[in-house]
Amino acid sequence: MIFTTLSSCDICATLIYMRQFNRVVVGDVTNASGNEQMLREKGVKVDILEDLAGIAFYAKYRAEKPEFGMEDWKDLATVRKAA
Ligand SMILES: [Zn+2]
Repeated sequence: MIFTTLSSCDICATLIYMRQFNRVVVGDVTNASGNEQMLREKGVKVDILEDLAGIAFYAKYRAEKPEFGMEDWKDLATVRKAA
């Protein structure tokens, strides 16, 4: 089992099923989502907490540091394209 703050990005989601994790617990799909269904189709049990304190905390972080918030989830290329 693995716990993640946000929904996993494409690379992390791929590693989660390739490394045969059987379950992922996602804290927040409000600030980032997209690979939950793919993981389920690969046989990984996905639980989504939608923890309100965590959602607010990450939204504040991304608002204050958008370059870091998007780098965490979408990589530097996305940040540079948006700039
Ligand atoms: Zn990732």
